[in-house]
Amino acid sequence: MKTYFLKKRNTWVRLLVSLFFSSLILSSFASPALADEKMMNYALGPVLRVGLWTNQSNVLICSDVDFQLIDGDNQRVLKKGKRNIKMSVTMKNGRFSIDSVPVQTHSIFIKAITTEDKERFIEVNGRNYRGDVELHQTKKNAGITVINILPVELYLYGILPQEISPEWPLEAIKAQAVAARTYALYNQKKHGEDGFDICSTSDCQVYGGMDSETSRTNKAVDETNGVTIMYQEKLIPAFFHSSAGGFTENSENVWGAYLPYLRGVEDRDQFSPYYKWERRFAPADLIRDCAPYIDKIGRLKAIELSALTAAPVTRNDRGVSGRVKTLRLIGDKGSIQVPGNTIRTLLNLPSTLFDVKMMSAAHLKDKSLEITHRITGAAGETVLFMGYGWGHGVGLSQWGAKSMAEQAPKNDAAYYKEILRHYYTGVDVRKSY
Ligand SMILES: [Zn+2]
Repeated sequence: MKTYFLKKRNTWVRLLVSLFFSSLILSSFASPALADEKMMNYALGPVLRVGLWTNQSNVLICSDVDFQLIDGDNQRVLKKGKRNIKMSVTMKNGRFSIDSVPVQTHSIFIKAITTEDKERFIEVNGRNYRGDVELHQTKKNAGITVINILPVELYLYGILPQEISPEWPLEAIKAQAVAARTYALYNQKKHGEDGFDICSTSDCQVYGGMDSETSRTNKAVDETNGVTIMYQEKLIPAFFHSSAGGFTENSENVWGAYLPYLRGVEDRDQFSPYYKWERRFAPADLIRDCAPYIDKIGRLKAIELSALTAAPVTRNDRGVSGRVKTLRLIGDKGSIQVPGNTIRTLLNLPSTLFDVKMMSAAHLKDKSLEITHRITGAAGETVLFMGYGWGHGVGLSQWGAKSMAEQAPKNDAAYYKEILRHYYTGVDVRKSY
């Protein structure tokens, strides 16, 4: 793991960071001010390759300073760009053109030319990014892959505002910063086959680049500089979600894999707007949405699921938090077991932590501890899903973290570690670089 260290001042500071491409190219970064007046050690962390887009036919490039397009094959300058003047890179039949002039290369690096004490960025398709940009042909496709190359700390500036509200208590934002940093470093080779480390969508983490940055989220990144979550000296996949609905879930009950640090714990998200939810379906809508399963069992007669009780739950069809592992659909020609995650996707439910009730037109006729919920076909019959929480419910709960941070002792600038140790069992939270 290659790490870059520097001294950072309270004013705009020019940071020199060497990035390793096919050969060494010197790159530079400017970074926002720290509140602290004194010099401090500040590490930018390993360089990440973030996939912004794939299969683009046309990419518009610009910068706030003069910039260069460099041939990735031999490091020669292909074209010089003037600040604030857009340049167009296109691909046709596997060949690049810059402003309609064909060039022979496999990849193009876009580098802003450094000026003293000035923030610099590269504009790609109308959005601004720190660091450098690389273009190459998308694997098995005719278009261009656009990659933003920058150290993880600067990448996190563009992540946090997408994942958490900048208005929330700082200790909650700091907990999110550490989870996001750990998640990014753990998943560094996730998209290796595509030529980058991680993508910029919710498949990895939503990355908005420089335009999305806020001073409070940047501060949370700076104040947790290099801090990660480790279990037995290794980075963990630091999963997080919006709201667990009272209790988080063991990893194996959601994804099948047992991970000792992803255990169900009490969530403190009772004030979350997603704490409790309800969805109602007419049996016909339920049958339509679950068609791939129901087609195999004939006419739907009943849904079998144990009643939700207080956590920790020990029923076979539920996880420790009460999340549905499986439920059974019973038809006139047989029955089929459906994973809770599948039901959640098919019915677009906020979480798998739910109870099922049958309602007639006027009143709830289901007794709460009944397991089989029969569909009679009576007029006005409704299948009611009553649930808790939003998201998969594994690892850090963002609304729970907010609630913990609101109750934190005043001026405890390390309280984010308490939050992380609550939601990730048996972990160390400490500086990795
Ligand atoms: Zn991804």
